[in-house]
Amino acid sequence: MIRTLLGDVPDFHARAACGGKATVMSSRDDSGIAQAKAICARCPVLNDCRAWAGELREEKDPEMVLGGLTWLERRQGVPSGERRCNTCQQVKSFTEFGRRSKGKGGRQSICLDCSRQQSKAAYDRRVQQKRDAHKNSQATS
Ligand code: SF4
Ligand SMILES: [Zn+2]
Repeated sequence: MIRTLLGDVPDFHARAACGGKATVMSSRDDSGIAQAKAICARCPVLNDCRAWAGELREEKDPEMVLGGLTWLERRQGVPSGERRCNTCQQVKSFTEFGRRSKGKGGRQSICLDCSRQQSKAAYDRRVQQKRDAHKNSQATS
């Protein structure tokens, strides 16, 4: 299953208990996640898998149960629950990212600082456009 989804994975996954169970391993609801964790709990390569998954870079880490942990549980296991902002590329704490129900781990991929800057830039652009439109209308009247 992991091989299908991620391509290049260590050999120990040949003995994975999640073979053919991609749907349940990718569950988003509590009961599906519990089922996926139960599969991991009896997997012969659980420890290897958890160590390997814990080292994955965020963009390579799929939003599914791996090594008995959800994506968020794995990412929070990364020192102080950090992630890299897609815009400024700085590594920041999860709490510095706005909430987004469909985002990985329920958070946005850009940090609050970048998000505020983008909103301000968009607001300034709109104000400037209105000013220009006003000037043009005066020039033509
Ligand atoms: S620990 Fe879970 S995700 Fe990892 S190989 Fe085993 S069953 Fe699959
Ligand atoms: Zn940022």
